[in-house]
Amino acid sequence: MIRNLFLNRGVQILGQRGIASLAALPDSHQMLQKTCRDFADNELKPNAAKFDREHLFPQDQIRQMGELGLMSIAVPEKYDGTGLDYLAYAIALEEISRGCATAGVVMSVQNSLYFGPLLDNATEKQKEQFVRPYVSGVKIGCFALSEPGNGSDAGAASTLAVTKGDKWVLNGTKAWITNAFEANAAVVFATTDKSLKHKGISAFIVPKDSQGFSLGKKEDKLGIRGSSTCCIILEDCEIPKENLLGKPGDGFKIAMKTLDAGRIGIASQALGIAQASLEVAVDYATKRTAFGKPISKLQSIQQKIADMALRVESARLLTWRAAWLKDNGKPYTKEAAMAKLAASETATFAAHQCIQILGGMGYVSDMPAERHYRDARITEIYEGTSEIQRLVIAGAVLKEMS
Ligand SMILES: Cc1cc2nc3c(=O)[nH]c(=O)nc-3n(C[C@H](O)[C@H](O)[C@H](O)COP(=O)(O)OP(=O)(O)OC[C@H]3O[C@@H](n4cnc5c(N)ncnc54)[C@H](O)[C@@H]3O)c2cc1C
Repeated sequence: MIRNLFLNRGVQILGQRGIASLAALPDSHQMLQKTCRDFADNELKPNAAKFDREHLFPQDQIRQMGELGLMSIAVPEKYDGTGLDYLAYAIALEEISRGCATAGVVMSVQNSLYFGPLLDNATEKQKEQFVRPYVSGVKIGCFALSEPGNGSDAGAASTLAVTKGDKWVLNGTKAWITNAFEANAAVVFATTDKSLKHKGISAFIVPKDSQGFSLGKKEDKLGIRGSSTCCIILEDCEIPKENLLGKPGDGFKIAMKTLDAGRIGIASQALGIAQASLEVAVDYATKRTAFGKPISKLQSIQQKIADMALRVESARLLTWRAAWLKDNGKPYTKEAAMAKLAASETATFAAHQCIQILGGMGYVSDMPAERHYRDARITEIYEGTSEIQRLVIAGAVLKEMS
């Protein structure tokens, strides 16, 4: 398990190919990066096109990631988690996503969106029931905030929860829920007092086998096609009263705090896609000849490579800064939004440039460039669109500076 790497410091692995900033990290994190990179190269990269083409959930690979400790990387050892920090999570998730963006999003939802709100808000009894059995990744969870009528405007949730004896009864539809198809439980947000608007939203832990819980059709997506995305339909869905997470009315706060951390995860997923695009582009440019020499000798190709590398390294440092701030108990809402915005737009940019460098070969599925292009796009949409990240950043900057 990866935790053992942290007990075995002292091995120097400096300057992993293509990631200059890595040399600034502790040995332990460099070793983690190498372990995840090897796993991605051996187990994910060779299968990623198949998962994409066949809409296949990477069951076996997720199981192996669970064995490595990657499905509960920041869950304390007290609950059998891996007990590492968020910087370790960011590094590992980038490498996994570099191999397969689908595996990246599955890992990200489990670590940030499912465990995140539970670790911060669950009672010890809830943690025993909904954290400990999930750390290995054999059971997975999901996070259900969005609805058909509201995504960015999360405070407008129309799913309702009312009490009935010793139960909560939930009615409504949650939309676009990643991992919903495979998940055993969901963190669900529903309104318990409509008159209080977003302050009337509460969070609940809903096991999938609850009466009144069903799933909509799997969405046919542009990218991350191995992951499932579907509606969760709650029709008189009954859960025990003790499945309320936190206090009534805490839901919106819980959701926003969860998304702050989640954005570090999506930034890391985007970085993995961007790094993969850069590697494909460099490899192709050094091998492909035109006008008697490798295209890597052409200045216009070099400029693209320089811009890709610059943006990847910049976004990576923003992402690691946000993770470091979180690990050190400092505010990081603005920094996580900056990291997610920079990394997601870098992923789209790098994947676009990669296709350009590959020419016709960039446009066909024989090469991974077109998949990276499709996978990149979602990172600008989920866990807050780029427009919402800009609102968060501008709000913070205006507050700081005026
Ligand atoms: C593949 C996939 C997986 C997802 N996984 C999950 C999940 O696991 N759990 C979950 O809860 N949700 C999930 N989502 C939902 C996702 O978070 C939302 O799609 C996203 O937040 C945007 O919401 P929306 O689609 O309703 O767009 P809208 O909110 O309708 O936005 C439409 C457009 O308007 C812009 N806009 C909206 N408000 C503003 C504003 N105030 N200022 C400027 N521009 C604005 C947006 O940026 C966007 O360009 C997923 C979505 C997808 C596609």
